[in-house]
Amino acid sequence: MPTISQERLTQDFLELTAVSSESLDERKAADLLTQKLHELGFSVVEDKAGEKLGGNAGNLYGFLKGTIPGEPLLFSAHMDTVKPGRNKKPILHEDGIFTSDGTTVLGADDSAGLAEILEGIRSVRESGQPHRDIEILFPVAEEIYIQGSGVFDFNRIRAKEAYVLDMSGEVGSAAVRAPSLILFRVTVNGRASHS
Ligand SMILES: [Zn+2]
Repeated sequence: MPTISQERLTQDFLELTAVSSESLDERKAADLLTQKLHELGFSVVEDKAGEKLGGNAGNLYGFLKGTIPGEPLLFSAHMDTVKPGRNKKPILHEDGIFTSDGTTVLGADDSAGLAEILEGIRSVRESGQPHRDIEILFPVAEEIYIQGSGVFDFNRIRAKEAYVLDMSGEVGSAAVRAPSLILFRVTVNGRASHS
C-alpha cells in the first residue's frame, strides 16, 4: 500500500510556496516542477502559453507510463498564485500550520494541490503499487481568468478522467460540476488581500 510521507509532503509544499510564481511569472515554479516530475520518471513538455500570454513560462504537461493497461488518469493543479507573491517566506509553525511572513500571500492555492499530486504519485511509485498511465497538467495564469488553460492544446490529453486539486472544503469532498466563469465588478474598501 502506498504511504504518504508527511515529511516529503511538507518539504515539497515549503519549496513550492517559497518560489515567486505570480501569474505570468511562473518561470521558477515551472523549472522546479519540471525537475520534480523528471525525478518521478515523467516526460515533460512545456507549451508556448508564456509567449502567447506575455508571461515567462508555459503550461506543463507530464506523462508517466503506467505499469498496467487502462485509460490514463489526469491530475491537475495550477502553478501561479495571486499577488503579492514575490519573495515569499513560508513559515511552518509548531502547531503544524503554515503561514506566510505576513508581507505576501502564502500561495497554498495552488501549491497544496501541486505538492499533493507529487507526493501521491511518489508514494505509489515507491510502494510498487500498479498504476495506469498518468498525465499531469500544471497550467499557468489560472488566477487571471484561466488564461493558461485557455491556450493549452487539449488534443494532447488522452485521459477521460481527471482530478483537479484546487478547492477548499472538507478533506475528502469533491465538486463534480462547476458553473464555468462568472465575472462581476465590486468595489471593496480596505486592506489589499486575496479576494
Ligand atoms: Zn486555485
